[in-house]
Amino acid sequence: MRLLAALLGLVLVGTLAPAAHADPRWHFYTADRTRYESPWFGGAHRIMIPFGCTSAPYYSPDPRCRGGNGFHHGLDVAMPCGTRLYAAQPFRVVSSDSLGSAYGEHPLLLRNARQGWDLVIGHTRRVYVREGQWVRRGTVFARASDSGAPDGCHLHFEKRAVGGGLSTATWPRPLLDLSPRPS
Ligand SMILES: [Zn+2]
Repeated sequence: MRLLAALLGLVLVGTLAPAAHADPRWHFYTADRTRYESPWFGGAHRIMIPFGCTSAPYYSPDPRCRGGNGFHHGLDVAMPCGTRLYAAQPFRVVSSDSLGSAYGEHPLLLRNARQGWDLVIGHTRRVYVREGQWVRRGTVFARASDSGAPDGCHLHFEKRAVGGGLSTATWPRPLLDLSPRPS
């Protein structure tokens, strides 16, 4: 009987534990259910909306996309509110004045001119860095939240050309450096 209880406990932990952190507002617009780790965030989490054309309803129809679909300029990873965001690469914090309200109350524009990218980080709270600051690799610079996001807490990770606008956004996944959580 005790063994049965232990087994049942294992099954419950296996099935219920991840769900306990799930946000009912999350909607996944990808068939990929893999949980990924990244040097940019704590834990292991699922992609919610990939970069590019998407059927997610939050974006206006884009001429690049079929069927009236919109274009997502970043990659969204669903994660519990408060998840730590790390500087996987060094960067300088530059003015985020050019970013609209769609990225939430504390949008971040991060720059590494040597590596040739700007990075827009959306939907954060508790930002630990300030404009003009050089941030070293490994620093916790903010926490994930739902600020400005109708679809729950997540990281919006958007790679742009240095000093470039939204139209210069490119596939950010290599920089995000996702790897499947070891099973
Ligand atoms: Zn996004």
